[in-house]
Amino acid sequence: MSSAHFDVNGEIAVIRLDNPPVNGLGLALRQGIVDGIKQAEGDDAIKAVVLIGSDRAFSGGADISEFGTSKMLAEPILTTVINYLETTKKPVIAAISGACMGGGLELALGCHYRVARPDAQISLPEVKLGILPGAGGTQRLPRVIGVEHALNMIVSGVAVPAKQFQGSPLFDDIVDGDLLEGALAYAKKVVSENLPLKRVRDLKAHHENPEGFFMFARNTVGAVARNYPAPLKCVDAVEAAVTKPFDQGMAVEREAFANLLQTPESKALRHAFFAERLTSKIADVPSDTPTRDIQKVGVIGGGTMGTGITINFLNAGIPVTLVEMKQEGLDRGVAAIQKVYEGRVKKGKMSEDKAKACMDLLSPSLSYDDLKDADLVIEAVFEDMGVKQSVFETLDATCKPGAILASNTSTLDLNKIASFTKRPEDVIGLHFFSPANIMKLLEVVRGDKTAKDVLATAMKLAKTIKKTAVVSGVCDGFIGNRMINQYQREAILMLEEGATVQQIDKAIEKFGFAMGPLRMADLAGGDIGWAIRKRLYAEHPDMTKMVVADRLCEMGRYGQKTGAGFYRYEPGNRNALHDPEVDKVVDEVRAELGITPRKISNREIVERCVYALVNEGARLLDEGIAQRASDIDMVYLTGYGFPVFRGGPMHYAEEVGLPNVVRAMEPFADTHTQPGFWEPAPLLARCAAEGKRFDERAK
Ligand code: NAD
Repeated sequence: MSSAHFDVNGEIAVIRLDNPPVNGLGLALRQGIVDGIKQAEGDDAIKAVVLIGSDRAFSGGADISEFGTSKMLAEPILTTVINYLETTKKPVIAAISGACMGGGLELALGCHYRVARPDAQISLPEVKLGILPGAGGTQRLPRVIGVEHALNMIVSGVAVPAKQFQGSPLFDDIVDGDLLEGALAYAKKVVSENLPLKRVRDLKAHHENPEGFFMFARNTVGAVARNYPAPLKCVDAVEAAVTKPFDQGMAVEREAFANLLQTPESKALRHAFFAERLTSKIADVPSDTPTRDIQKVGVIGGGTMGTGITINFLNAGIPVTLVEMKQEGLDRGVAAIQKVYEGRVKKGKMSEDKAKACMDLLSPSLSYDDLKDADLVIEAVFEDMGVKQSVFETLDATCKPGAILASNTSTLDLNKIASFTKRPEDVIGLHFFSPANIMKLLEVVRGDKTAKDVLATAMKLAKTIKKTAVVSGVCDGFIGNRMINQYQREAILMLEEGATVQQIDKAIEKFGFAMGPLRMADLAGGDIGWAIRKRLYAEHPDMTKMVVADRLCEMGRYGQKTGAGFYRYEPGNRNALHDPEVDKVVDEVRAELGITPRKISNREIVERCVYALVNEGARLLDEGIAQRASDIDMVYLTGYGFPVFRGGPMHYAEEVGLPNVVRAMEPFADTHTQPGFWEPAPLLARCAAEGKRFDERAK
């Protein structure tokens, strides 16, 4: 069945692209376009063709559901379709509204004329998937909007409204009113004035000083692209548009496209792209599960997290009642929120009016009674079961039936928290990450009794407040923190075994993490991890202790907030400085534990830290805490600064090869580590033995 419709309007044929939601250029649509053109060619009464999409999209580019399937490579491929359009003898006019992205823009550039609505969004976003436009985008766009502007768009992937190109050869007309009418009028003009069959390929991509410009471009792009090969390849391809004839330029583009497609960076970016779309799919909660209406939100606790959480909802236009225990706490919370908005206005990121509108949605309160009509209440009070108990008992007594009661707890048992109410089905964990108004990740913690519509509502709400929500089952630390504890413990144990603070962080940062584990511990605050460790030591007496970390905390070195942790900090400065005091503590601990320091390679540092994440991730999958390996990757990409070009810990391990990971882990069993920890998790061992990836789930 074709997904392009053919109509005739007088002398003009109209081919309407129809592959919702965004007219992805799947095989049926590609074939439909070619068939439509053939039909027009075969009818003498037809003098011109209009190619039009929907209001939402002319075309969003490649059909992502075809990625990795044979359909993607089946003829007519996009370049064939474009060649066909470009060489047909009847003028083709693209009528563009909504998204005109990637392959969609390349398709439009193959037409003889283009008219667009002023607000149509024009982009070549391929670089975000680690590739470049592969159907002539790098050759044709510079010919119509100029070399510099085109290169900017191609290396950044950003979308630009069509009206910005008014007057350039990209658009022959900008249509303010009805797009089809405007396009038909333009087509009639082409016919009546017998205008030529313009081809973008016949234009010249000109630059006054190509050598100087491309040298400059390589330097600037190279400096920001760092771990990503695609942006520099974009420069090569655009340079070819300037320096070579069209067909040779196309060959340069094609070769670069084919090479980039095979790079680990592109594989990682494409993995992340699909992983993000998968997170909202929950096996037993179908996408048509009814959701509850969330018009009003309550937040309890105006501390670090409560204020950040509140801002998310205010930004989305949802009123929030913020409840604190005492007036000073409430004032502090409101002032913290106000400060964030003032900062955004000062930096030009938000208008004063919008900031005021957000603040107007905030109702500070000292009374739980003001939460009576809230549809959702999120608790962000102290991390203490007794405090949580009293809060949830009060909420149970106060909130209206059907209200969702959420906890932002990082470590406490959500099922126990739910049991403090008579409505455990309405209780859910919404685990935000600090700073909660900035971090993309939201772990949605599903309790044993959480109702499906409550879960579906939380996932929908996450989209409203622009978070990437990942579902986690209940366990100590949920997905993210349970894994990070293993990673950090290995880092600290390697410090005891012979590595230095600086070496560990540098090795991990070189791997691509935004911040090494010890700098991260200093930023998060050593006291938080210490409190968790003390609880774990009590619960598991045979656990290997992180003696250096404990010793630093005993000395009051909690990291940045106390001016000293694994590093020292000058007042008012976040630069992590080497501290000989720490070296002394490390030496003392080594002596006490009878450890003879050995030379630890950077490779061991990376492998022990990263494979500690992988092994724990595999356990989480086996236990059903995480739904899929790609969800774990999203947690790490959006919440923990894992390098995006490596695709997340589980994807990275799969790319290294799971049998290689298992082999690399073997010698770590002899280190000063938690006994049994380096035993490969059963799922990891099974997948490695059977040559499967995690999400193929070797059972
Ligand atoms: P915080 O100490 O900064 O803030 C807690 C606030 O809750 C305080 O302002 C306190 O006055 C208020 N409060 C305490 N009991 C209350 C009550 N009964 N009624 C109303 N207000 C009350 O703590 P935080 O860092 O914002 O952490 C809050 C919760 O979020 C904890 O459960 C914590 O584990 C979790 N969490 C923290 C982080 C983080 O990085 N800080 C990250 C994720 C989750």
